[in-house]
Amino acid sequence: MTSSNATIPLETPEYAARLARRQVSRHGAIYALLDAVRDPELPELSIWDLGVLREVRDSERGLSVAITPTYSGCPALATIRENIATCLRGAGWQGFEIVEEVRPPWTTALMSRAACTQLRAGGIAPPVSGSVRCPACGSDETVLVSEFASTACKAHYRCRTCLEPFDHFKVLT
Ligand SMILES: [Zn+2]
Repeated sequence: MTSSNATIPLETPEYAARLARRQVSRHGAIYALLDAVRDPELPELSIWDLGVLREVRDSERGLSVAITPTYSGCPALATIRENIATCLRGAGWQGFEIVEEVRPPWTTALMSRAACTQLRAGGIAPPVSGSVRCPACGSDETVLVSEFASTACKAHYRCRTCLEPFDHFKVLT
């Protein structure tokens, strides 16, 4: 195991619970379709991997897609709704609704392990507790530059080992 792999977190219980619901769902094909829908602010991540896609259920209209914003008033949510609708209509679905659920709230623990790997590949330190490791060289000799980076959910860091600046996706609970 290399030093950079050592900082990729294990699957969280929160993610494992989401995955278990997906695996027993009779809407597995819908989940698979929605894997194509990306988060507008973090296009390297699908809404599934980010934990925004909560569940696909039956409803009176046919299908109900439950989504949870990463934070209240997230401006990306309207785009996510449109992209889900476009994706489902493209596959021939007409009767569906997209419902927003804020309880329980979104946390970074809902993210998949794959999401953390993808963030790191994109140069972003994933949300793991403990020391913040440089996504480029794996060093934990890093220094916080600013609490806020390109989005409020990220902080800006610099690596003292390789001198690379990088963003850290904050741990949100
Ligand atoms: Zn570094």
